Amino acid sequence: MNTDSETIPIQEEQIEAVLDRSSRLAAAHIREILAKARELHGLTMVDVAALMHVSDPELMGELFDAARAVKEEIYGKRLVLFAPLYISNLCANECVYCAFRARNTALKRRALTQEEIAREVTLLVESGHKRILLVAGESYPQEGFSYVLKSIETIYSVKSGNGEIRRVNANVAPLTVDEFKQLKATGIGTYQLFQETYHKQTYAKCHLGGKKADYGWRVSAMDRAMEAGIDDVGIGVLFGLFDWRFELLAMMQHIHHLEQKFGVGPHTISVPRLEPAIGSDMAEHPPHAVADVDFRKLVAILRLAVPYTGIIMSTRETANIRRETFALGVSQISAGSRTNPGGYVEDEKFDSSQFQLGDHRTLDEVVRDVASLGYIPSFCTACYRMGRTGADFMDLAKPGKITDHCDVNAVSTFLEYLTDYASPETRAAGEQRIQEALAGFTPARRAIAQKLIDDVKAGKRDAFV
Ligand code: SAM
Ligand code: SF4
Repeated sequence: MNTDSETIPIQEEQIEAVLDRSSRLAAAHIREILAKARELHGLTMVDVAALMHVSDPELMGELFDAARAVKEEIYGKRLVLFAPLYISNLCANECVYCAFRARNTALKRRALTQEEIAREVTLLVESGHKRILLVAGESYPQEGFSYVLKSIETIYSVKSGNGEIRRVNANVAPLTVDEFKQLKATGIGTYQLFQETYHKQTYAKCHLGGKKADYGWRVSAMDRAMEAGIDDVGIGVLFGLFDWRFELLAMMQHIHHLEQKFGVGPHTISVPRLEPAIGSDMAEHPPHAVADVDFRKLVAILRLAVPYTGIIMSTRETANIRRETFALGVSQISAGSRTNPGGYVEDEKFDSSQFQLGDHRTLDEVVRDVASLGYIPSFCTACYRMGRTGADFMDLAKPGKITDHCDVNAVSTFLEYLTDYASPETRAAGEQRIQEALAGFTPARRAIAQKLIDDVKAGKRDAFV
């Protein structure tokens, strides 16, 4: 694979030029951009750069209102839940911000065996999870990359009570087209990979060794994944390494490149912020730390810029920041997470974790909180199993047809969770939330939801349309 600059979709000069030319615009002009965003067609890089300058409290309130409106129009009140599963912290790379980096002697190394993976998954299934994000460092035990493939097979094979994992997404190092084909064959949902920073000079300073030091190999990974037939890909930036404004515009270029080349952009965007990590000064003192006020703003801008791309908020963030950003555009969240291999069976251990968590609540606590805020926690995994992925997903999403599926599937999978796993308080709060959601549906949608609810009450599991 050629990783020359022509194959790299990021044009730094163009980004710098847009940033240089952008300035604080008159309120009337900002309001025009917000009105355009409410039409759900997304925004240009120039619009995005203009919104980054908003600081006046009244206009900021209008920006947040617009993001809220777009989110509710497309995603309703649903929030999809998942858990990360760290299978190994072995790594041959030297990313200066990460505890897993090769030369970090303070970290306890571990790659889970297939039996240990099965035990972790059993606990996740028994807590009610249906989606796992598999995560690993870039160095595998003796069997090489097939360790990842085998681990995905193991995850899908675990059954406990009424439950099983129905969607595995994967966040592993960039692969060749052939390896991506093998990954797809395991039945993964989304392939997720963060560029960390799109700024080449910063990238070089943060990635000192190993394969990951090759910027081009990483930035072209999604092209290879899509060539291999993985049409749900998830991108992201590690906020704190470089100026968030540059990163947002670079992400827009990356999205545009994928849309031009493959007819569809990324399925999700993740917005991790740098968190403290054992053996990393940079993680303790991020060179471009993003303040909470800017973080909320960047989530809202992303929601307006790419309305049909899901936004993922992990447990790196505190419960409060998570709550605030749900309203501004987040559509998927992790809950009850651990970032140390073996962490579900053996609990959180900072000396083998990738970074420090901001939200330590259990899945049950997060679900109750989310429901009491007026959202419907969704455990739905129907789309990719029904082939509603990539461009097919977008063809349903853009005319608003996907909500015919998502709203009712969220209710049925939420009821399944409440019935099989929730504490009595969460079950009471959740059942009330389901009644409120049903009351807000059209009669036709309510009838479909009621049928699924009756199925779940009669003992059916995995009921969806
Ligand atoms: N090793 C693979 C890679 O680097 O792409 C995949 C998994 S890596 C464990 C997942 C992500 O964790 C990285 O892409 C990075 O953005 C994030 N990460 C690393 N160190 C972090 C830190 N100190 N705080 C927050 N996130 C971090
Ligand atoms: Fe390894 Fe990924 Fe951590 Fe870099 S971010 S050191 S590649 S686990």
